[in-house]
Amino acid sequence: MSISYHSTNKKAQKVGFREALSRGLAPDGGLYMPDSIPTLSPQNWNEFKGKDIRTIGKIMLRPWLGEFFSGDDFDQLVEDALNFDAPLVQLKENLYVLELFHGPTLAFKDFAARTMGRLMAALLRDENRELHVLTATSGDTGAAVADGFYDVPGIRVWVLYPSGKVSPLQEKQFTTLGKNITAIEVDGTFDDCQRLVKQAFVDEDLNRKMKLTSANSINIGRLLPQMVYYARAWAQLKDDAPPLFSVPSGNFGNLTAGLLAQKMGLPAAGFIAGVNSNRTFFDYIQSGTYEPRKSERTISNAMDVGDPSNFERILALYGGQINELRKYIHPYWFSDDETTAGMHEVNDTYGYVMDPHTAVGYLALKKMRRETGDKRTGIVLATAHPAKFLEVIPEEMHQHIEMPDALSKLKDRAKKSVTVSADYDAFREIVLAGR
Ligand SMILES: *Cc1c(COP(=O)(O)O)cnc(C)c1O
Repeated sequence: MSISYHSTNKKAQKVGFREALSRGLAPDGGLYMPDSIPTLSPQNWNEFKGKDIRTIGKIMLRPWLGEFFSGDDFDQLVEDALNFDAPLVQLKENLYVLELFHGPTLAFKDFAARTMGRLMAALLRDENRELHVLTATSGDTGAAVADGFYDVPGIRVWVLYPSGKVSPLQEKQFTTLGKNITAIEVDGTFDDCQRLVKQAFVDEDLNRKMKLTSANSINIGRLLPQMVYYARAWAQLKDDAPPLFSVPSGNFGNLTAGLLAQKMGLPAAGFIAGVNSNRTFFDYIQSGTYEPRKSERTISNAMDVGDPSNFERILALYGGQINELRKYIHPYWFSDDETTAGMHEVNDTYGYVMDPHTAVGYLALKKMRRETGDKRTGIVLATAHPAKFLEVIPEEMHQHIEMPDALSKLKDRAKKSVTVSADYDAFREIVLAGR
């Protein structure tokens, strides 16, 4: 039985997974959502206890992807893509951190990017046109996608990023690779980058000339692999009580993956969305009106998103009912000063260094507990390794941060990028010229 996908705008035709993956955005500008969500039995979830991430990944992803592969090929793909763990670290009795930064680019996006790179290579091998992956990044996506798609035959990657708004090491991660990876440095904000990408997808003339897709979390192919680490977190908990997940959020792809996992049967007590001063989602839950904001620069820059792209998916998952949404997702926002204080607090209390994004997740869980008295097990998703964000982490903590090899070796590599204004025609020229 194969799963079909519809657009959240309801105007585009339904498609299969292959098409949804290769298009990224639906032609009506909406996001693809599955018509149905396969569930695993309670017994499956019980059996996940103690299992490793690859075993869990194969079981969770097979109902979504299995039909496209012979058994061995599917297993191999999952083994290659999920070749690092998501360890659950306990800070105190009911407080855990799920470390999602043990992949090659040290942020959670490696899980999805590694899987997507391999899926696209496998599923689109028979198409004889080069596939152009357009991806807007506030920092970590660019790195993960560049790494996950590096040197994949038939795929050309364009990474758009806001000039001067990503950390120096993040920038090196996607501007120093070369080969099939081109970095486009946009004189504007992350939202400008995202807008340029979205515009390219609805540009009919461009789409006739080139086959385009997205590796941003508008692509459903990004969200499916991200379900797996939620289950892996559950597998590492000793007891059976459903935990609360606190998710540092920007475009809300990570959180949407958690919701999908919950629909598959993941025992979850609820989700907490931690955001920075880009608090569009927080305001929406408060007021009931969705008003995109201009993105503001913060120290948790990967969450500087004023118009989160997965908002439409989240709303769709709850049938457009804000009151349903309010029951399961609890948003909190924090200023940079609060975030810095949070990093200090965690370091002083637990001797653990969090990067600024993770600190926002920690603060959100703490605030929710203070407001509601909730004592259930809480899991903060640690979305990036602190070494990626040294310039915004208080100096006294630096001695406790180990610099991973993957980062230290980048220091001396030369950056290469194409600069462009935040103007669609200028951007289009560059992409067309590089076809
Ligand atoms: C991308 C990113 C986020 C935000 O994730 P979304 O899926 O866009 O909500 C949070 N933290 C880090 C470190 C990131 O790289």
